[in-house]
Amino acid sequence: MKSHYETRREWGDKRYHSLNFFLREKFGHKVFKIPLDAGFTCPNRDGTLSTRGCLFCSAAGAGDFAGNREDSISQQFTEVTETMHKKWSEGKYIAYFQAFTNTYAPISVLRELYYKALQQPGVIGLAIATRPDCLNTQVLDLLEEIKAQTYLWVELGLQTIHKKTSDRMNLHYNCDNFQVALNNLKNRDIPVVAHIILGLPGESHIEMQQTGEWLANQPIQGLKIHLLHLMKNTQLAYEYKNRPFHFLTQSEYADLVIDCLEILSPDVVIHRLTGDSPRALLIGPEWSLNKWETLNYIDQRLLERDTWQGKYFNTDISAL
Ligand code: SF4
Repeated sequence: MKSHYETRREWGDKRYHSLNFFLREKFGHKVFKIPLDAGFTCPNRDGTLSTRGCLFCSAAGAGDFAGNREDSISQQFTEVTETMHKKWSEGKYIAYFQAFTNTYAPISVLRELYYKALQQPGVIGLAIATRPDCLNTQVLDLLEEIKAQTYLWVELGLQTIHKKTSDRMNLHYNCDNFQVALNNLKNRDIPVVAHIILGLPGESHIEMQQTGEWLANQPIQGLKIHLLHLMKNTQLAYEYKNRPFHFLTQSEYADLVIDCLEILSPDVVIHRLTGDSPRALLIGPEWSLNKWETLNYIDQRLLERDTWQGKYFNTDISAL
């Protein structure tokens, strides 16, 4: 039988299967994600389910680094790519529908916007972020149609498997809804990138690890792990004022991230390992402002723990 070390995969200089590595392998060159705000809203914000939104959601609908929603897709695209090219000279793009719920509009509107993004110069794919309860059959049909023409993935919010937390955070969906949406996308062969948040108030480290364990057994192709960072003008910021909760320290966060990575399939692509917010909007934790330092710290902890993504994949971790 092979030792854990012998089964270790190589992903450049990382001990996890990073998106950057994956895209370079797949396309043979640098690929940038271009975050867009296509002007959508969300059923959890427009009064259909609630007007409060998920308590951690910012005014920008989780699209704080996306383009300006007043601008057209083409304008946003030009602006964001110009900024990126100040740093990198060349590359192709994945147009990323990031802000709010990007499948929540009439099909004709969705179709027009998705195709508009696909027509931008250098675009080789689309990424579409949404909620599990906003993927009806018509939307799934459209996504399948798009997938037949380009590289596509859907980003699907889970955040936690614990109902007490999804209720407290006012998500208006839960793990069961996520599973249904995931299966529907899987049946159409559409890759899914799940989002989870570590550090949600009221959750123990064990409960956060349980969310990672549950996802490790699901048919996902990608994962985004976010740190809960508290932003000004969110519902959670008002709650925090009356009922402060613990922010994860950098060291707690890194170890929780690594616990999730160790049990995950090495095939799953890691799209994100931090959460960051514009400096002017952040309440805490302060250390999250330095994204690169956090990523370096996670690398260092992986080395110190002599571990990597997938080390315990398919292993009964209770027996370790
Ligand atoms: S589903 Fe997304 S856009 Fe809607 S309230 Fe929650 S975080 Fe905000």
